[in-house]
Parts: sequence; structure tokens; C-alpha cells
Amino acid sequence: MSAINPYSRAEQRLQALGISAPEDIDLEAIAWDEGVRVQYSDLSGCEARLVGVGDRAIVTIRSSTDDRRKRFSLAHELGHWNYHRGRSFECRADDMVEKFSSKPIEEREADSYAADLLMPAYMFQPLVRNVKRPTFDAVSELAEKFNTSITATAIRMVDVNVWPLLLVCHAKGGRLWFKRSRDVPDRWFPQGELDSDSLAFDRLFGEKDRTRAQKIGAEAWFDRRGAERFNIVEDAIRISNGQVLALLWIEDNEMLDDSGRY
Ligand SMILES: [Zn+2]
Repeated sequence: MSAINPYSRAEQRLQALGISAPEDIDLEAIAWDEGVRVQYSDLSGCEARLVGVGDRAIVTIRSSTDDRRKRFSLAHELGHWNYHRGRSFECRADDMVEKFSSKPIEEREADSYAADLLMPAYMFQPLVRNVKRPTFDAVSELAEKFNTSITATAIRMVDVNVWPLLLVCHAKGGRLWFKRSRDVPDRWFPQGELDSDSLAFDRLFGEKDRTRAQKIGAEAWFDRRGAERFNIVEDAIRISNGQVLALLWIEDNEMLDDSGRY
């Protein structure tokens, strides 16, 4: 057997089409090439729908959502088309990027296809490596380049594991979900309630949408003995539905030590 192809299915698609820059990722053209017709209408109860018959399909996207969300929805439906051909899907908004672990496998596969198609690692990773500091300023710049949402872009940034990061989403009722880069040890598990010292707390309950990222004692995020010895860099931003995203950068290498000393 030959060497394993390092590119995912979606990335191989892009490469076969000769696409090498973010602005050339034309989803409707890719859909057309795969026998998928795309239409926009007033869907109610779901964000996007895929109806497939044989080697043709129609994807319907809710017209009232913003453009970056529509783009993610279309990429997600193309994921279903590639992985689950022969079936039809109705996907809700919160199926798209949240609640990773509780989602059915088909939804996770479609999400991961979407992330690879919209932000292929071979384009995304080099840009993330060039970032000076992994904060929401950097996320916003990448989101602009790839025409993707702040949330989807931040998730991708954590997933590519170039920087040791945690991404934590909170609503007023507590933590909704979090993601961690592979290099961040499992013992750094963010607590369920926001600490009033955190920037995220300010964003959730205060007036400001955003200030600058700042250093903060790790104990504001991790309820674990020894956390008070470390500082991390926190950035926080308000997103839709009254939720706040916090991006935590584990800058101190001792926190990444897996020898069991800390
Ligand atoms: Zn779906």
C-alpha cells in the first residue's frame, strides 16, 4: 500500500480543482461540479436541507441568515453529500458548530468536512503559524480571509494545534462547550462557572463587546491545585445568542508538561 494521503477528503477535492487560495474556494462552483444544485429560501425549523436522488441533489439554505453562516451550511451539506449519499438531511443551526460531543456521527462528519473545505489545513496552518499572538484579532483576520464565522474559525485554530489553546463558550447559565488543542493536557479542564475575574465574565455581564487580550491567573479558569502558580493569556468576545467565547492561550510551557510534575 502506498503512503497515507495526508490530506482529508475535502482537501483532496480542493486540490483536484487546483484551488490554492482562500478567495478561490467557490462553494457553489464546487457544488455544481458534484451534481448539487443550490437554492436559497425561507426554510423554517432548519438552517439547511439536502435532498438527494441518485447522483443529483438539491441543497436548500435558509436565506435569512448571514452570508458566513450560509457558507458553512452549504459546506456542511456538501459533507453529507460526500459521506452519506443516498440520504436526505435537515440540519438545524445548532447542529453546525456547537455541542460537538453530543452530536450524531453524521453531523460531526459533515462539520469536519465543512471545516476542511472552508479552511483547508494546507492554506490555514501556514497562516496560523504566522500569527504573532493567538487572539480574536488574529481569528477575525483569518475569518475575513476565509469568509467564515468567528466561531468556526476559532474552532479551526484550536484544532490545527499550532498554538496550545482552549476555546470555551459560555452563556449566562454556565459553560456550553469547550475545545482544547491536542498539546494542552487533559488536566486543564475549564470550570463550569465563569470566574468574576475573567474577561469572559465582563463580556457576558458587562457592557463592552471587546477589549484587548490580557494575562490572567490560571486559577480564574481552572479549579485545580497548582493553577495559581501560572498565568495564561485570555481573550473574550461576545457572539450571537447572548453567548461569549473565550480563547485561552497556554503560554507557559510548564503547564504543557505531561510528566506529572504539575
Ligand atoms: Zn447536518
